Amino acid sequence: MGKFPIADKAVLKMRICLKCKARNPPGATSCRKCNYGYLRPKKARKKETK
Ligand SMILES: [Zn+2]
Repeated sequence: MGKFPIADKAVLKMRICLKCKARNPPGATSCRKCNYGYLRPKKARKKETK
């Protein structure tokens, strides 16, 4: 939904902290903000209508 496909791709590779929802680099094993150990990959969605 972004204007920039490259940025979209980068965002989708991000890993989201389950605790504070901070975005972390793809290779991260723990949150860079709160050091929480559980990160989930951001789900790729083609259409996000609301
Ligand atoms: Zn966190």
